[in-house]
Amino acid sequence: MFTLNGIHQFIQNDRPELEKLSTDLWEHPETAFQEKYSAERLAQFLEARGFDVTRAWLDVPTAFTTSFHSGDGPAFGIAAEYDALPAVGHGCGHNLIATAAVAATLAVREAMKKYGIPGTVRLLGTPAEEDGGGKVVLLERGALEGLDAVMMVHPTWRTVPDTGTSALRKYNVIFHGREAHAAGSLDLAINALDAVMLLYAGINAFRQQMPSFCRIHGIVDDGGNVPNVIPGRASCCFYLRSTSEEWMEKLDARFRAIAEGAAMMTGAKLEIVQSSKPYRSRKVNAPMNGQYLKNMAELGDHPVPLTAVNMGSSDFGNFSQELPGVHCYFAITDHRIAGHSAEFAEAARSSFGMENALRAAAAMAHIALKFLTDEKFRAEVEADFRRG
Ligand SMILES: [Zn+2]
Repeated sequence: MFTLNGIHQFIQNDRPELEKLSTDLWEHPETAFQEKYSAERLAQFLEARGFDVTRAWLDVPTAFTTSFHSGDGPAFGIAAEYDALPAVGHGCGHNLIATAAVAATLAVREAMKKYGIPGTVRLLGTPAEEDGGGKVVLLERGALEGLDAVMMVHPTWRTVPDTGTSALRKYNVIFHGREAHAAGSLDLAINALDAVMLLYAGINAFRQQMPSFCRIHGIVDDGGNVPNVIPGRASCCFYLRSTSEEWMEKLDARFRAIAEGAAMMTGAKLEIVQSSKPYRSRKVNAPMNGQYLKNMAELGDHPVPLTAVNMGSSDFGNFSQELPGVHCYFAITDHRIAGHSAEFAEAARSSFGMENALRAAAAMAHIALKFLTDEKFRAEVEADFRRG
């Protein structure tokens, strides 16, 4: 039967081609929903290895999927991301996520064929994680139908389990007032910038009553043009985060009330636009997490059994609320570096990064195969998900 080391060896044998794939993606960074080169490169890589690839999956032009099916059995999904960031390219290392997902899918298929394991492994090519919520769009269109569990691995500075993330909502708030000369006809003005400032101050005051597992942070993106014109339009952008779904609703309601209050105080008209699909908080799966840590340690890595929740957000949250799943992390450096930075981008094409991406791929493939073959493990995973 399959072994973790056997899976790792199989993946290691393909390292030269996998490394070329990862570097090629790294050298062609594309932002949310623009990942044409990356999606095509990944599709061709899989086709060269005998997979039938569905491009523009569920009418998302840069999404794709492929699967290997061998008779009735459970179905396991492996998610790939491949979008980059403006300015810092692969400063989140999604080139390694895609490479690890491909490597794991190849390894699972190999073991399924070799040992006659029934079931399905499906690779989900999900664009636009950094902005736009590709997985949210795909999920709405049925991306997880027919699957029983889903997983992905993400680079960071140390190997840690999935400790959950915040739900995230993004808002643009625009106040519409009336412009007027700031010295000569001030009594005719409705000051939209004042409304922005009052909203900002209201959020700051509210922060004192906000639990530690919530965050609200924002910027002013339009505060008028010149000092001698009272701004008739002003706008700001805010992100609301909470690891509690229940508290997200409270934050949302307070945020809207404060914005309405600011509009009322100034006489400006309020417009709130949701600027991206909402991300849900990430639901953690303890049995999958535990197996990941065990696998990574067995492969020679040094996982840290972290428990503190990550306050960031990811569209995998929406997947994890739908199906049992985990979003585990692997180290690409041996010291702390900032995410979304040039330094992180460098680590995402280092041989250290590659080494651990392939370990993580093996750890993930092993979990997928365990899920397909081990009824007890599958029951534990499902029971943990139902516990919530
Ligand atoms: Zn990322």
